[in-house]
Amino acid sequence: MKLKEMAPMMKEFFSGYIDYHKEIKKHDVWIKKYAATKGLKVNPHWMFYTNLKIWIAESESMFGKRYCPCFEPGENAEVNKRLLCPCKFAQEDIQKHGSCHCVLFGRGDLTDEGFKEGETRLMQEYRGTPLNLENGILDTRGAHIDPARGLPVPDSLHQVKRALNKARGQTLEVIVETNVEVENLGKFAGKQGLNFRSSKVGDTWHVELIPRATA
Ligand code: SF4
Repeated sequence: MKLKEMAPMMKEFFSGYIDYHKEIKKHDVWIKKYAATKGLKVNPHWMFYTNLKIWIAESESMFGKRYCPCFEPGENAEVNKRLLCPCKFAQEDIQKHGSCHCVLFGRGDLTDEGFKEGETRLMQEYRGTPLNLENGILDTRGAHIDPARGLPVPDSLHQVKRALNKARGQTLEVIVETNVEVENLGKFAGKQGLNFRSSKVGDTWHVELIPRATA
């Protein structure tokens, strides 16, 4: 990964680490307890594991619930319920890949190498596909659909986070398909201190995320 991309990711990591310091400790407790009860291993890589706890804490603070750090809640309430971490999809993921989708939990005998392979797979899913971003407009539609959950990977929220790192203080316009994504982006904007505007354009929604200083 290039230094230009690495620097904003590191900044995001350390600011999340500071903001959610207490929550990270809280999540550490139930994650380890759950893993011990189920005979699973917790991701042994400090930075990756800490990032997942930051994202769980962020999800809880935005949505009031502990959703999977890799998926934003969508329109289907039943699927949303199944997305709460530890999710109902984890067991099948672990059987198939050795680890859950986000590589938080792995099989009891999963090696360090096995966790690294899972992390590479996840990074490929979330950062391997180029963003559909041109002239400050991010079109989030058309992402791969996770077959188990029926949800896009990467979802619009993860795409927006990546795009904001490239936008460098400029307004980002985002095209999304559903009203729930608009609501989620509104909550995200509130947390990030961004101004937010949305409008319906044909079958899609257009959202503007505007840095406060230029609003
Ligand atoms: S995939 Fe892993 S991290 Fe994501 S909700 Fe399921 S158990 Fe939690």
